[in-house]
Amino acid sequence: MSLKVIVSSRNINLRKYTSIKIGGKAKYFFEADTVDDICRIISDFDNSYYLLGGGSNLLIKDVLIDKPVIKLANAFNYIRKSGDCVEVGAAIPIPHFLQYCLKNNLGGLENLAGIPATVGGALAMNISSFGRDISVFLKGAEILDEEGKIKKLDREQIQFDYRHSSLGGKIVLRAWFKFYSEKDLKTKVNSFLDKRFQAQDFGFPSCGCIFKNPSSFTAGFLIDSCGLKGARRGDAQISSKHANFIVNLSQAKYEDVDYLICKIKDRVYQKHEIILEEEIERWI
Ligand SMILES: Cc1cc2nc3c(=O)[nH]c(=O)nc-3n(C[C@H](O)[C@H](O)[C@H](O)COP(=O)(O)OP(=O)(O)OC[C@H]3O[C@@H](n4cnc5c(N)ncnc54)[C@H](O)[C@@H]3O)c2cc1C
Repeated sequence: MSLKVIVSSRNINLRKYTSIKIGGKAKYFFEADTVDDICRIISDFDNSYYLLGGGSNLLIKDVLIDKPVIKLANAFNYIRKSGDCVEVGAAIPIPHFLQYCLKNNLGGLENLAGIPATVGGALAMNISSFGRDISVFLKGAEILDEEGKIKKLDREQIQFDYRHSSLGGKIVLRAWFKFYSEKDLKTKVNSFLDKRFQAQDFGFPSCGCIFKNPSSFTAGFLIDSCGLKGARRGDAQISSKHANFIVNLSQAKYEDVDYLICKIKDRVYQKHEIILEEEIERWI
């Protein structure tokens, strides 16, 4: 049996798998190396599971998480050339993918430099930055659908919207991208990284932006306009650098972040009559 049960009786601390370093323990934590493994776990748990990517968009409650947590293991962590495309396993972190692009002078993803996602999570959420999303250079993806069927989808068969794609709820297994040849990629990557480090708060753990931007203003602007930058509860703090970030100063708890999120929603609604929608995903 290829199924590798990392821990089932001894519980796995999810905090170390999230970028904000908050979270309880997973009662069942699986690293799946094959599609058969994934299907077996899903069927054993009646189709109820959590899929973990890079953990960079997750806020997990400090409780014992009963649903099995599935992480795509090493077999999904590869990059190779495939005709005129690059094929990547869904577990590849975007920073590693960019390193490969840099080495091979492949332009297209440089605006995503610094985003700590995996390819699977990035496609499910349709990450974007500086006006361009990950779908632009995507050619297709292989997924495991809700019925347990493997499907190969062309880019045109996938719907991408702001922080959403039709791949959410499915399991991305691998994807193909076609890039353009770019000689001076390093300069571009460095310039995007500079802009990111200037704008975002990388001083402490976070899950990036907490809220989606409404159509009128950025969420960060709205939160700042309510004077909330720097507001703190326990070790959770609304970043003084980027108001749409909540950072974990040391030992922040789920409840601390939740308190600040509620406070932000209340204050922004009172002042602007705008309901902020969360971008992060909660596991509770
Ligand atoms: C410092 C920082 C900066 C960030 N900057 C940006 C930014 O500029 N732009 C932006 O868009 N986002 C940004 N993010 C948010 C985050 O990186 C994205 O939301 C990303 O899509 C999360 O990917 P992940 O692999 O970490 O997924 P996770 O956080 O682990 O999971 C997020 C969702 O994706 C699903 N998922 C994970 N893997 C797969 C898969 N293989 N198949 C299908 N679904 C899957 C999960 O089940 C979950 O629903 C930032 C986050 C941080 C911490």
